[in-house]
Amino acid sequence: MNLADSEEMAGHLAMRGYILTDKLDEADLALVNTCTVRDHAEHRALSFLGRLRQWKREKSGRRIIFAGCAAQRLGQKLKKTFPYLDVVSGAREIDQFAQLLDKNGFTHSDAAPNTAAKDITGYVTIMRGCDFACTYCIVPTVRGPVHCLPSTEILRNAVQKAAQGYPEIMLLGQTVNAWRENGKTFADLLNEVSALPGVARVRFVSPHPAFITPPFLAAVKDNPKIARHIHLPAQSGSTKVLQEMKRGYTREMFLEKTAALKELGFAISTDLIVGFPTETEQDFEQTLSLVEQAGFATAYCFKYSPRQGTPAAQLNLLDEKILEQRLDILLNKVKGLAERAYQAQVGREVTVLMESENKGRTSENFWIETKKSYTVGSIVNSKVISAKDTLLITRD
Ligand code: SAH
Ligand code: SF4
Repeated sequence: MNLADSEEMAGHLAMRGYILTDKLDEADLALVNTCTVRDHAEHRALSFLGRLRQWKREKSGRRIIFAGCAAQRLGQKLKKTFPYLDVVSGAREIDQFAQLLDKNGFTHSDAAPNTAAKDITGYVTIMRGCDFACTYCIVPTVRGPVHCLPSTEILRNAVQKAAQGYPEIMLLGQTVNAWRENGKTFADLLNEVSALPGVARVRFVSPHPAFITPPFLAAVKDNPKIARHIHLPAQSGSTKVLQEMKRGYTREMFLEKTAALKELGFAISTDLIVGFPTETEQDFEQTLSLVEQAGFATAYCFKYSPRQGTPAAQLNLLDEKILEQRLDILLNKVKGLAERAYQAQVGREVTVLMESENKGRTSENFWIETKKSYTVGSIVNSKVISAKDTLLITRD
């Protein structure tokens, strides 16, 4: 999501004559796009902003824009602590970013922005915000309620990305599969995007388990262009904690959904939070056993981070030592998942989208090396003959 927002902001800057560089000492403008989902993310963004003070002093005319969710949360207060900051642009204001630039003297130039594809995946935002109210989460506060983009605009953006040379389209939203428009569902949209000229594969992130329903599964079942990988955050394996988190599903419901997805050939990755304030030793063990049972290909594990203003922030925190211990145990548990998932691919027929001449990703999102060379962006059907750590090798 942040990558897509950064691209969008960079696009507006390109129309004002700016060229992207990742070398700070070459830059005239630093655009800091931020996350605030955990305190650590916000902290890193702010300490980077602190370091930019010296950078700004070194050359006159240098400017700084601080954008995204941390900017949204902290607002104009930021200018008090960081008086050298030029522009604050909250995540909710992304649609007005161009006007904000105009207002702050970033004027249009005649420069033609370079829009040629940089890699394989083109990001297309389809919805913003979130209508859930998970008790630990700051996203609804900073991103606001759900706003679905119209399908006409989404399809136009996807066509444009494909024409720029992105054969894989990644549809984005905080709860991406909550997208809807009159009678049209998210599954309808997936099918429509996959049928656009130049689109070889469609992915999406982040889906919420609530919308993984039998009609959704039926609608994607026969469309091989919809990638067979899903990142489906579980957060916890304990029904009691899931209820306290207000996730809206039980452990059993989550497992039913993952079983149905696996039936259709989906590889599944997930997010897990350890140390939610009410998490007991038994609850934590339920998370460990969920990892066993669900057969995740990967899991991102986070230590619970209290976010000001969320309901869970009112609860007493668990001891930091317990949090560290549980995170450690969980990380150890998930360490071997990827290797196991790669190994399980050996012998399977796979569809590979090439990302370089000899390397690509399977529909299930596993990295794979080919024997022969192929054109970047082409689809190759082959068989997996072996797996080494987290790399598959094809027959062809
Ligand atoms: N909309 C997605 C998640 C978006 S936030 C969903 O509902 O699944 C991305 C991830 O950050 C979450 O999946 C969660 O694991 C983690 N996260 C969110 N708030 C957190 C907090 N307060 N502490 C620790 N991890 C958190
Ligand atoms: Fe946060 Fe829950 Fe919304 Fe995901 S669904 S963004 S975790 S409130």
